[in-house]
Amino acid sequence: MLKALGADVRYVKRRDDLEDLDGIVLPGGESTTIGMLLEEYEIAPVLRKGDLPIYGTCAGMILMADEIEGSDQPRLGVMRMAVRRNAFGRQRESFEEAIDAAGVEGGPLRGVFIRAPFVTEVGPDVEVLGHVDGKIVLCRQGRFLASSFHPELTDDRRLHQYFLEKVVSGAPHLA
Ligand code: GLN
Repeated sequence: MLKALGADVRYVKRRDDLEDLDGIVLPGGESTTIGMLLEEYEIAPVLRKGDLPIYGTCAGMILMADEIEGSDQPRLGVMRMAVRRNAFGRQRESFEEAIDAAGVEGGPLRGVFIRAPFVTEVGPDVEVLGHVDGKIVLCRQGRFLASSFHPELTDDRRLHQYFLEKVVSGAPHLA
């Protein structure tokens, strides 16, 4: 998605791969595993400093939260919010839903949810940008953007574009 939008991209597997990045995407997957790897490869402490813009999708969102209901799994904890894992329940393990996203023009986003979390509480600095069934599924705190859903599984690039234009380019720290 980012490449299609004109960004230079690289996979980050080791700490050195973070060199000179303007932003990073934390993907979906299994948040416990990704969290352990972020520690093992010493990437977590760099991201925790809070300088690098981050967009987390699904498991990525979980890792950005400072509170994960009922879990002490490793996390970055850069956003003041509580999340509930696998929160939509068995009946709705995977589903699609249209989401009106504040700040994203051109009509609702198509949200693909896969064993997705939602946000149960936000701190004062967190801007809520989108809901499904009254649950928070998209939010932002300064240079951190998080979604419960996976826009990369659609051909709609607007949320990645939002990340590049509003979050990454808008981040004041980039020298
Ligand atoms: N259920 C996964 C978790 O709790 C997240 C699923 C996903 O990233 N699609 O880590």
